Amino acid sequence: MKNDRIVERFLEYVQVDSETKNEGAFAKRLKEDLEKLGFEVYEDNAGEKVGSNTGNLIATLGGNEGSETIMFSCHMDTVSPGNGIKPVVKDGVIYSDGTTILGGDDKAGIAALLEAIVKMKEENIDHCNIQFIFTIAEEGGLFGSKNLDYSKLKGNKCFVLDSGGDIGTIVTKGPAQDKISVVIKGKPAHAGVCPEEGISAIEIASKAISNMKLLRIDENTTANIGKITGGVATNIVCPEVKIEAEARSTVIESLDEQTSHMVKTFKAVAESFGGVAEVDVERMYGEFVIEENEEIVDMAKNAIKALGIEPIVASTGGGSDTNIFNGNGIKSVNLSSGERAPHTLQEHVYIKDLEILRDLVIELIKE
Ligand SMILES: [Zn+2]
Repeated sequence: MKNDRIVERFLEYVQVDSETKNEGAFAKRLKEDLEKLGFEVYEDNAGEKVGSNTGNLIATLGGNEGSETIMFSCHMDTVSPGNGIKPVVKDGVIYSDGTTILGGDDKAGIAALLEAIVKMKEENIDHCNIQFIFTIAEEGGLFGSKNLDYSKLKGNKCFVLDSGGDIGTIVTKGPAQDKISVVIKGKPAHAGVCPEEGISAIEIASKAISNMKLLRIDENTTANIGKITGGVATNIVCPEVKIEAEARSTVIESLDEQTSHMVKTFKAVAESFGGVAEVDVERMYGEFVIEENEEIVDMAKNAIKALGIEPIVASTGGGSDTNIFNGNGIKSVNLSSGERAPHTLQEHVYIKDLEILRDLVIELIKE
């Protein structure tokens, strides 16, 4: 059986390798496809800044004169293992062959965006001015959107197609995140001969962590100790431990409070043992909170309803380019792109979802 055109496009796209910071080949392919559809494509210089072999792509297509510019965004990069993807189509679902991820995160969104334009051209459907923003290095730090050339954007509303859940989900809230890096310094000593002369960094770490509020803090706030490394040998009182932790919240005061609680606890406990805790806090990205009565939410809801689907307004605990766009003054919500089990070897995409997503894009831009 011949696959639908959107399926063909999706299968081709996932077979072009584009792990984070190696999006060059895929960007080149996208640029060609966009230009065939009449887009003017600009590549910014984010690639040089983040160490990728391409910049972000900003693709512009004129629509009805005087119409608003509506923007959409997806990221071009995938997580690992994402090279040599061999997609398998079975019973209306697209999987990888089980040795890699599929790359539906975020190429399902990208395929839907381009196919929306193809379908509108075929059916002579009028549309507003459109910009597609295809970012690099979203995974692992939102580096592409952080270094995007915002001066090239013509609109002030963006639909990011990069979230899980059923199509029809509108994510309007996402947390800010602090990355907390800690080095605890104790003092080495022979553990058998003179342990009393040592200060155990492991003891400091365990006492500090057990004194800390962690995981689910409140409705809006979470915190986690993600990684601990340290120690030399059983016969040496541990001189140093490194800890990587994070805190997130959609309410900045709560985030500040949680981060400061963690920092203070590490420092106070280290001091009480005679050791030192060196703590570095980095705000990875800001929060976004779009109120339900804002125009962009209405637009999304109406488009979803027009397809006979009940919209679901949701919040996320994760970070995405949506955080960065909002932080740069672009009103953005994150719409589900039908990602299922992203970042796993079981990742899959329903063909039906690709088609609905394409039609949803059309609903958002047709005039
Ligand atoms: Zn994604």
